[in-house]
Amino acid sequence: MNNHVTVLEIDGNALQHNLEYFKKKLQPETKILAVVKAFGYGSDGVQIAQFLADKVDYFAVAYAVEGIALREAGIKTPILVLHPQTPNLKSIIDYKLEPNLYNFKIFNAFLKLADEIPLMNYPIHIKFNTGLNRLGFWHTDIPKIITSLKETNHVKVQSLFSHLAASEDVEEQDFTVNQINNFAYTAQQFYKHLGYEPMLHILNTSGVVNYAKAQFDMVRVGIGLYGFGNDEKETAQLKNTHNLKSIISQIHLIEPGETVGYNRAFVAKKPTKSATIPVGHADGLSRKLGNKKGFVIINNQKAKIIGNVCMDMIMVDVTKIDCKEGDEVIIFNSQDMLQHIADVSETIVYETLTAISQRVSKILKQGKD
Ligand SMILES: *Cc1c(COP(=O)(O)O)cnc(C)c1O
Repeated sequence: MNNHVTVLEIDGNALQHNLEYFKKKLQPETKILAVVKAFGYGSDGVQIAQFLADKVDYFAVAYAVEGIALREAGIKTPILVLHPQTPNLKSIIDYKLEPNLYNFKIFNAFLKLADEIPLMNYPIHIKFNTGLNRLGFWHTDIPKIITSLKETNHVKVQSLFSHLAASEDVEEQDFTVNQINNFAYTAQQFYKHLGYEPMLHILNTSGVVNYAKAQFDMVRVGIGLYGFGNDEKETAQLKNTHNLKSIISQIHLIEPGETVGYNRAFVAKKPTKSATIPVGHADGLSRKLGNKKGFVIINNQKAKIIGNVCMDMIMVDVTKIDCKEGDEVIIFNSQDMLQHIADVSETIVYETLTAISQRVSKILKQGKD
């Protein structure tokens, strides 16, 4: 039981709204894979998956250990493991997870294991590199892959997929369209020789926003479910899911010339009231937010962070705010606040969300708006 007062509330209604928003952009038969890697983008992958289990077709996680956590929590939905490694292929099978096989090392290791056990028509996914140059076979690998697949009934290809390098960037439209065409061509080659037609998928959130025609059989939505469409107009249509709250632990009245925090970074020029909040860089708040770059909200007013962000705490200026110890503090509860934190932290919202650490309690709330 985690009784840390700094709590990330996950808004179930917002999650559902966002899912429905993306469904409306797609053909009714297009399947939805919800990406719940990295603890559901810094929240709680298990609670998110339990909430979405009857609303989506697939889940994806990056690593086997994340998929195992979902299975141990009772999730029965198919789970694609995007980045398996040879040492965890056995546990992938034990937990009925579906591996992405992206090179011959992992492909051959899985086929060998499938043969030894032996498995029968075990679902696997094959990834092609179409320009991201991160994971995936090259289309010239097809003949060799097909030869191996024709010799076995231990595995069955559930899907072929690829990943876009710059789906959010309109300047890179030519490159992206080329990736999509390249993928479609690769899939056709694969189909021709395989004798059956696995599902195809290439779009992530901004792919759905900008290239919905390339939805193929399924789309993989991550950040969009959590309220960000990778452009302001889309984000405005989505609802914020991650709300980080805390309380005021202590209030100090500081005289001019006194300082606050490590390295005495804040020096009071006038009588100042500071509030100490139990959230720091170990909870995911960048030190770049210190020294008045970041703020929190207390009783509907902005309170700037003064001095340096500590590991476990921040101090904020509440001189002009009517507040007391124990009052609620909002660290973020909107996409605007999250975007501001990301901008000040010189990063993207993906990192701001996934930085929220395991120490923070997580609770998914659902109810009336
Ligand atoms: C993380 C990830 C996604 C989700 O991307 P979003 O931009 O968050 O929608 C989709 N596919 C792959 C392969 C990923 O690694």
